[in-house]
Amino acid sequence: MYFPSWLSQLCRGLSRPLGSTTQPIWGSLSRSLVLSSQRRIPEFSSFVARTNTCGELRSSHLGQEVTLCGWIQYRRQNVFLVLRDFHGLVQIVIPQDESAASVKKILCEAPVESVVQVSGTVISRPPGQENPKMPTGEIEIKVKTAKLLNPSKKLPFEIKDFVKKTETLRLQYRYLDLRSFQMQYNLRLRSQMVMKMREYLCNLHGFVDIETPTLFKRTPGGAKEFLVPSREPGKFYSLPQSPQQFKQLLMVGGLDRYFQVARCYRDEGSKPDRQPEFTQIDIEMSFVDQSGIQSLIEGLLQYSWPNDKDPLLVPFPSMTFAEALATYGTDKPDTRFGMKIIDISDKFRNTEIAFLQDALSKPQGTIKAMCVPEGTKYLKRRDIESIQKFAADHFNQCSLLGKLRLECADLLEMRGMVLRDISLFSFLWVVDFPLFLPKEENPRELESTHHPFTAPHPSDIHLLYTEPEKVRSQHYDLVLNGSEIGGGSIRIHDAELQRYILATLLKEDVKLLSHLLQALEYGAPPHGGIALGLDRLICLVTGAPSIRDVIAFPKSFRGHDLMSSAPDSVPPEELKPYHIQVSWPTDSESEKSSLNHLHHPKS
Ligand code: ASP
Repeated sequence: MYFPSWLSQLCRGLSRPLGSTTQPIWGSLSRSLVLSSQRRIPEFSSFVARTNTCGELRSSHLGQEVTLCGWIQYRRQNVFLVLRDFHGLVQIVIPQDESAASVKKILCEAPVESVVQVSGTVISRPPGQENPKMPTGEIEIKVKTAKLLNPSKKLPFEIKDFVKKTETLRLQYRYLDLRSFQMQYNLRLRSQMVMKMREYLCNLHGFVDIETPTLFKRTPGGAKEFLVPSREPGKFYSLPQSPQQFKQLLMVGGLDRYFQVARCYRDEGSKPDRQPEFTQIDIEMSFVDQSGIQSLIEGLLQYSWPNDKDPLLVPFPSMTFAEALATYGTDKPDTRFGMKIIDISDKFRNTEIAFLQDALSKPQGTIKAMCVPEGTKYLKRRDIESIQKFAADHFNQCSLLGKLRLECADLLEMRGMVLRDISLFSFLWVVDFPLFLPKEENPRELESTHHPFTAPHPSDIHLLYTEPEKVRSQHYDLVLNGSEIGGGSIRIHDAELQRYILATLLKEDVKLLSHLLQALEYGAPPHGGIALGLDRLICLVTGAPSIRDVIAFPKSFRGHDLMSSAPDSVPPEELKPYHIQVSWPTDSESEKSSLNHLHHPKS
């Protein structure tokens, strides 16, 4: 559970001390967010039927007449009621005198989680009854009037962060899950960071926020796209994987600093920490080089970084793709800890150990080692056995050592070693990627490492015509704590070069991209860009266990909306205008799929 760590970090130095060392629970949230925005405090109660939020009331409000709206968190002995809104909790004193019988009836009969409006006076709690754990714990509300705005049925789970509930249930009743402090925090922090990003890009650096279509056409390369039927027989739109082509076309159109909080769609099936629809901070600039984009992103993150975290130090370190693979066994190294991979081939050149000799005799055969700090102290026999099994299971993947490194880190941490500081944000640029990689399904063919619009490294252009697999690119990825949170490139702006790469090297159908190729011929400026994966970034910043925890209405692991049951079937007559017929699976296929479903009740 990540609740205590981010909460205490968030509250560090921001909440007013209340005479106790206990961290305040409700109430610190919006104050911290407000302070970290370094702007005027937003007016949370303008235009609505309340004068204050529940969580904001303090001794400084004593004597004030207030009207509050909120949900009933709990009731004690029909004397006290605790009211909750996004801002926090406040104690309401239920009047006991005869003259207020109707108010008492409303407040005592309304079920928990009903939404009520109360008006009354802020009074101090009797001496000794203050609650130092509550930011509003010095005061209470002496109620004069109360209105039941809407009663609530019994909830499928309690709105308390410490009450464990399955993710299936949370997603099924997402609108209730959103009432939790944790979800409120995540979504409000996300909103605040996006706001600061807009401010930085538009107000400080003259970017233009431009929306691009989400009904588009199929494009070559990259992830699988979702299809959208059209009324023209056999014709489909595609949902874009990203606004890549549009942002390049905007550069041709002279909108030379573009950005968008862009929704992207990829039909990649079930992958942990991926969503079929996700959000990018998408950026493109003309007349820029790699270092210009990198500085822009460093400034953007620094500017939008929450104030309750340590400020970011820039520039971020940088590492080539080759170095990342050699020393960390992955192109997204977690640089919060060492345990680097070391090439010890030279030490074994004259070895007589047969399997090592054999390894070295293979083309590009190497012997590599990794030193696990205090491994003998922390790792138990069964850990070593599980590492051996892991190695055997992943044998022949070149990323094996990188995976082993992370596996060892997990084991060490399980055994009590502190290896990855959870308050550390370790950013890293990975650069000089190869322009192409061998296709997984047919290694003799090439595919783009990033996407086909990425420009080759200027010093490698000549290799395009002789040894294209050796060409490095002007592609850069941004990695945070071992997760890729962004990627981009300087683009090809020369139509001929783009055509050659698409048709000759990638064997793609250039007709699908004729609009882009044509545009490049009309004085396209040199340009480049990047996209940051917003969901993953916020997930790492908040320390949430999954990207689903920073998205208001995410899909399940299998891409379903568990609340509304999307995707859903459509009657045949509604498919007619699209000239589509469903080819239903055979009995055995559907049996298999329903069994699958039984085995994966979470989806
Ligand atoms: N469109 C690219 C992506 O989604 C990012 C970029 O190259 O700007 O990965």
